[in-house]
Amino acid sequence: MGPHRRCLHGHRLDVAGMTRTYSHVLGLHATCCLLCLELHTDRPAWYDLDHTVLRRADVPPGPHPRVVELVAHPPDRPAGVGHIALQVHGRAVADVDLQLCGIDRRACVEQISVDEDYRRRRVGTVLVAAALALGPGWQWSTTKIDSAVGARAFWASLDTADVLHLGGRAYCSHMEGAHDVA
Ligand SMILES: [Zn+2]
Ligand SMILES: [Zn+2]
Repeated sequence: MGPHRRCLHGHRLDVAGMTRTYSHVLGLHATCCLLCLELHTDRPAWYDLDHTVLRRADVPPGPHPRVVELVAHPPDRPAGVGHIALQVHGRAVADVDLQLCGIDRRACVEQISVDEDYRRRRVGTVLVAAALALGPGWQWSTTKIDSAVGARAFWASLDTADVLHLGGRAYCSHMEGAHDVA
């Protein structure tokens, strides 16, 4: 997502202070909020992932594959459930399930899961941003928000949540139909 103005706790980085490091292992930059470090918050650092760079799963990675990449797995039927995965060395460490209908310009975020080791690094936020970029200006909703504290904390602090109707799952007939077949 490139450099951010605020950290995951909402601190302005120009006031809080920040450092950027580069992981040669992952081929990625990470940013760390210095105020969060001093306050010992749970999420001081995050990966600078570009949510607009997406490879379709059926397109080969090319001669210089990225260590970390977002991969779109299209559904097996129109308006069915597809997913976007964050893959590290070809292994999915996080993904978001979603349904999209280009006819009705409607989409629904079904579920987000992030492996324990990759939590509190803005990964879920990047996945949601990557999903939203597939249907800009569409009517977006999510399925029921999990009542677990981690899920509520995620959705409550997500800055792209304004365009998402949280918990207000709004399927069109095509999305309903795709579920019936499945
Ligand atoms: Zn901070
Ligand atoms: Zn539809």
